[in-house]
Order: sequence, then C-alpha cells, then structure tokens
Amino acid sequence: MSYSKIRLRPNRTASVAGRHPWIFSGAFERHDSPIASGEIVSVCDPEGKIVATGTYSRQSMIAVRVFEFDEAVITREWLAGKIRQADQRRHLLGYGPGTDTTGYRVVFGESDGLPGLVVDRYGDVVVVQIATAGMDKLRDDIVAALTDIFNPSCIYERSDLPNRREEGLEPKTGPCVGGAPEVVEFVEHGLTYMADIKEGQKTGFYLDQKELRREIRRLASGRHALDLFSYTGGCGIAALAGGAQSVTCVDSSGPALALCNRQAARNGTAVSRLTCEETDVFQWLSARTRPEYDLVMVDPPALVKSRRHFEAGSKAYHFLNRAALRLVNDGGILASSSCSAFFSESEMAAMLHRAARQAGVDLTLLKIVRQSPDHPQSLTFPEAAYLKSIICQVRL
Ligand code: SAH
Repeated sequence: MSYSKIRLRPNRTASVAGRHPWIFSGAFERHDSPIASGEIVSVCDPEGKIVATGTYSRQSMIAVRVFEFDEAVITREWLAGKIRQADQRRHLLGYGPGTDTTGYRVVFGESDGLPGLVVDRYGDVVVVQIATAGMDKLRDDIVAALTDIFNPSCIYERSDLPNRREEGLEPKTGPCVGGAPEVVEFVEHGLTYMADIKEGQKTGFYLDQKELRREIRRLASGRHALDLFSYTGGCGIAALAGGAQSVTCVDSSGPALALCNRQAARNGTAVSRLTCEETDVFQWLSARTRPEYDLVMVDPPALVKSRRHFEAGSKAYHFLNRAALRLVNDGGILASSSCSAFFSESEMAAMLHRAARQAGVDLTLLKIVRQSPDHPQSLTFPEAAYLKSIICQVRL
C-alpha cells in the first residue's frame, strides 16, 4: 500500500521531529498531484524519507493530522490496536467494566494518537464522535473495531460538533450498531449517573469533570450547596451523595434538569434536599446578593471561545465569579471552572483574585483540579489542556 506523498520544507521539520500531531499547510512544499480531503498521506522529510503518516485536509489550516510518526498502513487492525492501547491506559487509571467508574472517555483524539476521533463508553454503550474528513472516511473500520473490542449493546454516533463544517462535513448522528436506549446508566466513583446519548450535550455527559465531582462529594457534608450551570447535576448529585444539607441546581436546560431529578432518585438520595431551577444563571444571580450558601460551584460553557474573544470572555468570567462569591458564607467554598482552552489557568487565577477583591472577600486556594485523566493532557500536544477548576475557601 502506498499513499500520496507530500514533502516538508527544509526549515519546517521541527514540529514533526517534536512529535506534534498537527502539520500546518505552510510547512509543505507545493505539490502538483491533487490530494482529496480525508486522504491518507505519507509525509516526507526534505530528503524524501517518510517521517509520518496522517490524514490530509484541503480546507483546514491543519493540513495533516498525524496518525503515526513513521511509515504506516492504516487498516482496521491498526485502528483496533490504537483503541485497545487507549482503553488499556484507562484501565491503568482505574476505569472500565468491573471498576467503580464505567463511564469514561476511551479515545481523546490527538492525545491518544487518533486525531479527529472521540470514543466514550457508558457501561455497555459506546458513543463515537468524528470531527475530521480523514476520520470520517474510516467510519466503517472504526465501528468494526469497536464492535470487536467492546462487543457493545449499542454504538451511537454523535458527530454534531460545529468544527465538522471547517472540514466540509455535515453533522451525522444516529445508531451504528443496535438501538440506543432512552438513557444509559453508568457509574462514576461509585455513584450512578444517567446520560441521554441521543439528545444530551457533548456525548450525553461531561465525563471530563470526574475529578471535580469527586472533590465536591468530599467537601459537601453538612453544607448548603449551589450548582450553577449544573447541566444534569453531575456536581449537585455528588454533593447530595456527600451529605449536603441542600442542593440547588440552576441551568437553562429543562431536559438536563429533568434528568437531574431522576438521577437523585436513582441514587436514593433524598430528593427533598434538591431544588432545580430552569433559568438563565446571569439573571438568577442578578436577583441575589447576600451570602446564603456554603459551597458554590460555577461551571459555565466556554466563555472565551477564541483568542479574539479574550477580552469579552474574561470579563464575563469576572462578572460571574464576583456575583457567585457574594453568595458564599464565611468559611464557605467556591469551586470555579473554566473549559476555555484560550483562558489559561494563570489567567483564571488572576481573574478570581480580582473578582474577590471587588466582592470584598478573601480567597485561599484549596486545590486545583483539571480535566480527568481519561481526557489526557498529552505531553506533546499542549492544546489538549482546556478544563480547570479552582477550589477556594472564602473569608468575609
Ligand atoms: N457542571 C456540569 C457541566 C456544565 S456544562 C457537569 O458536571 O455535568 C454547562 C451548562 O451550562 C450546560 O448544561 C448549559 O445548558 C448551561 N448553560 C449555558 N448557558 C447558560 C445560561 N446562560 N444560564 C443557565 N445555564 C446555561
């Protein structure tokens, strides 16, 4: 098997040598042979030696996403090998069937050497998300490999990310194998959760916030807790399980809050301790200014969506956290999250510091947790880091 070859410019070999999985279009010599989007290509060094194999995109600035830093033949077996290795790493972390965490990300794109592919596992249901033209062409092989490895009751596709458009792809969702249940159940650190894989956000659940939920469960005992941007109450349910006196979940999504109530009942936690409010968090906050909670969680969608939106987005984080801080009792805890890759941990810390000064409170750092390790922050691909939660004690 031989693939079309494209050659790196002499001064543009460093990123491949450093094992970075993206090669930008400007790094290549002009090539005359037309290469279709999604085609697998061999990347050659200036001397003509093949140094990488990856998928090509005509539309994206990222011309090649590397599958292997070597000559390789991309087959169903090759894909299965990569997925198996990624799953074995999750087992090392304590996730998988027979453990206390059966809802986890098996494949996190570039971080697992499979650019453009996400695979999530919820018990015996598998959800796939394909983001690039290259991966899109491999769909049948991916589904066959997942069937072999996991023998799942259902494989469901949720390729509805907006960035597919940049690759010239339409959204694609629906079952690939089996029928999708109305909701899937899985456990995370021993708690039972539910995900709506067909209509829910992401692939149905924010699997990346496991570490935060574990901290919240430990910190919640006896506290009145507020979960802002709760989605299906991942954090709120953890707080209830940790013995919170009361939990208030606020989110704009009605279906997410309906599932929140179902999950609370499913875990046998007293539903009477849970209040769900379907509304806009910014409006909800504007009507409240006095301390009344001992644990406040703030986990908004990405407010800095690109470098271009930095000013407006960081102001929104500031406004939100300042308003949330005003609701925390003396000695209470704020757990503030940001999933904006373009808003660094140090920028977030500085924002919290300023928000606390303006709210007239003192913050002491307890802990910083990041995206859970089933969303690895690859050593060669720093772009994979996006989620951080800063947990602080508040003194009035
Ligand atoms: N903490 C959650 C994940 C939160 S995701 C967990 O652990 O599962 C962000 C949530 O913010 C989504 O559920 C979305 O519906 C909600 N959201 C976005 N904008 C909102 C707004 N202005 N007001 C209320 N909720 C909002």
